[in-house]
Amino acid sequence: MSQIIMALDQGTTSSRTILFKENAEIITQANAPLNCYYPQSGWVEQVPEEIWSSQRQTIAAVLAQASLSMNDIAAVGITNQRESTIAWNRNTGEAIGPAINWQCRRTADYCEELKAEGFDSLLKNKTGLVTDPYFSGTKMRWILENIPQARKLADQGKLCFGTVDSWLIWKLTGGRVHATEISNASRTLVFNIETCEWDAEILTRFGIPCETLPEVKPSSGVIAQIDPDLFCGEAPIAGVAGDQQAALFGQACFESGMAKNTYGTGCFMISNTGAEPVFSKHGLLTTIAWQIGDEVTYALEGSVFIAGALIQWLRDGLQLFEDASETQAMAESVPDSGGVFVVPAFVGLGAPHWDPYARGTIVGLTRDTNRSHIVRASLEAIAFQSEEVLRSIAKDSGKDIKELRIDGGAAANDFLCQFQADLLGLNVTRPQILETTAMGAAFLAGLAVGVWPDQAAIRNLWQEEKTFVSDISRENSDQKMEAWSRAVERSKEWIVP
Ligand code: ADP
Repeated sequence: MSQIIMALDQGTTSSRTILFKENAEIITQANAPLNCYYPQSGWVEQVPEEIWSSQRQTIAAVLAQASLSMNDIAAVGITNQRESTIAWNRNTGEAIGPAINWQCRRTADYCEELKAEGFDSLLKNKTGLVTDPYFSGTKMRWILENIPQARKLADQGKLCFGTVDSWLIWKLTGGRVHATEISNASRTLVFNIETCEWDAEILTRFGIPCETLPEVKPSSGVIAQIDPDLFCGEAPIAGVAGDQQAALFGQACFESGMAKNTYGTGCFMISNTGAEPVFSKHGLLTTIAWQIGDEVTYALEGSVFIAGALIQWLRDGLQLFEDASETQAMAESVPDSGGVFVVPAFVGLGAPHWDPYARGTIVGLTRDTNRSHIVRASLEAIAFQSEEVLRSIAKDSGKDIKELRIDGGAAANDFLCQFQADLLGLNVTRPQILETTAMGAAFLAGLAVGVWPDQAAIRNLWQEEKTFVSDISRENSDQKMEAWSRAVERSKEWIVP
């Protein structure tokens, strides 16, 4: 029997497909870029057909590169950009408008209305999310109110809503299956994360008919066979998860207290909190990590808006160096940041501060400050911001984080990783396989069809590349955090609303 697993990784800027062997080695991969469109200030759209055609192209490409047919694939896993919302006609299979991207702010006014009414506390209690245009529910409502065809199709029982996983499942099954996966459902603002069902009360408030929504499936388990006409041959779609949840699974963070942080443009932290949802007092999101069999695992999630983007700004805006990889040696060329703190609140501050009026600042400059100090303080800022979110996760869950597993482009920077371990007082571990998101989707799919017998087998496949061990006292770490907090205070409420 074939043991090759195909992972589809549908992201905001590209669609990718990767083939993995059962030992988690990559056989081959293909990428296709994907456009975003900005029709108005604050609006972000994609074209549903472009999402599908770019994904389809990469599936065909990897099969050709490996000289395989779909029949040679043991299972297909899907991981995807979350919250982005698509509506289509059940009869024709055609999308009835743009994919409203997760970044799109078009429903900001409606979210303000919900908050003014106090509906946000009900939403938080039932969905674990904050009332923000980011999530799918208000986007679905916008489609029903603004795309003329939508309401008519809904009344005729012909409207399908879905997040990107759902759209890909629909397309991959030739329009036979309208399903979604539970971690994706948990990002819609209309899914009750305790009963694990679409929430009738919220749907009524938003005016969304329940029949328009997909059937919710576990993260690991056969959902359907791929349409044999698409790629010559069949394979089961057997694992699905939203991108951050897939990365948590790909990092084998299977126990409560295990967390991962992705250091990309921003930082995305997510921590396994076990079988019960933990509701945050620090502006974090409560979300479903995955469901395997009947067992639902929950997570707390927080993000940092500007992380690697700060390094890009030093490179392109200030022209302090040519390549991000130079920053490690620059940071290590000085004994410390010389009292400099960089607070990259370029777009305001997220968890735990939530101040949209904050703006970036550099404090502590003296006549001795040179560019290495600023570079070092910037790398430290990425770790400080992550530490604030991790401390919030620990406070909310009432449990210490056991271990932090890391990935993303900036995780290549050893100085950053060591500084993070020092602040955290824990081991920070970088895995050998950095494709944690796609790997997570592959693991979920392979688990469902017996490529791996259980999660223990997957845990054994996860291998560390390097572990960074904390090298400073807790007092020292607290002092650093305290100084950072003073710098953050100076960035807050800078612009006048
Ligand atoms: P994304 O998926 O968000 O586009 P990536 O995971 O590809 O991001 O990471 C790219 C980011 O990491 C960029 O913002 C870049 O500035 C930063 N980066 C890449 N290499 C390094 C490095 N060696 N040190 C610090 N930052 C880095």
